[in-house]
Amino acid sequence: MSDWMQEKLHPHHAQALKLDRVLYDSETDHQRLKVFENGTFGRVLTLDDVVQTTEGDNAIYHEMLTHVPILAHGAAKRVCIVGGGDGGMAREVLRHDSVTHVTMVEIDAGVVEFSKEYLPTLSQGAFDDPRLSLVIDDGAAFMKTTEGGFDVIIVDSTDPIGPGEVLFTDTFYGHAKRALAPGGILVTQNGVPFLQAEELTNTMRAFQALFADATCYMATIPTYAGGPMAFGWGTDGTSRDTPLETLQDRFAAAGLDPFYYTPEVHKAAFALPAYVVKCLP
Ligand code: SAM
Repeated sequence: MSDWMQEKLHPHHAQALKLDRVLYDSETDHQRLKVFENGTFGRVLTLDDVVQTTEGDNAIYHEMLTHVPILAHGAAKRVCIVGGGDGGMAREVLRHDSVTHVTMVEIDAGVVEFSKEYLPTLSQGAFDDPRLSLVIDDGAAFMKTTEGGFDVIIVDSTDPIGPGEVLFTDTFYGHAKRALAPGGILVTQNGVPFLQAEELTNTMRAFQALFADATCYMATIPTYAGGPMAFGWGTDGTSRDTPLETLQDRFAAAGLDPFYYTPEVHKAAFALPAYVVKCLP
């Protein structure tokens, strides 16, 4: 198996991807960073041997964490991305002309620099967009002190191990809620509930204590193995109820040409399987 990358994120389940060509493999100040080529997924970025993103399927993840809250909100101008070092999330947020300012808070400058060089198809120039402010800091520390006023906050974190752990705490969620403008929406990556049910339950418990509308929505991303991934959704507004026709109008006006997102998928993503409903406290 020496020419395969094995991701052992879970105690009884692993996935393997063929290492067709390793392009980079080194330690940053925070984590072990690797990029390799794979015949199915193109270039693959791993941190501590856990898949973060791939050229092949990243659009599903990035579109669902950006277009869903931004089009549901309907007038999002100020967006904050926590994590997101590969630039894929910034790329999708900046497709919205309505967005005037994006603050991206990434703990690891190494991921950003590296992604610019080895994964330019992820950011597609987003780091050069004048609407983007890049802050190199711990997202939890930033959220504690920011003046906020964000219409949408997107947590594009690693799993709750290592530097990403603080981004799954009640304290962080509380600070993020305070940083939202009225009607603002917080969305989070919450793992694959078939394998990481506890992670979703913990986030949902915190969200239910903080927000009038707390739930999750889902999408299947092939390299996040084990079934559909859950995205946390928290807001005091009513944007989850935005009618399909309104989403269709906003989608057409935004001029997007997504790989995965449609307004119909947007609405359907909030329909949860019974085993996921049981994860919600
Ligand atoms: N979607 C991926 C997944 O779940 O596999 C994760 C994407 S990757 C862009 C996540 C980013 O979060 C990494 O660049 C990592 O450096 C960053 N990160 C981890 N902990 C962080 C923290 N406390 N503050 C800010 N960024 C953090």
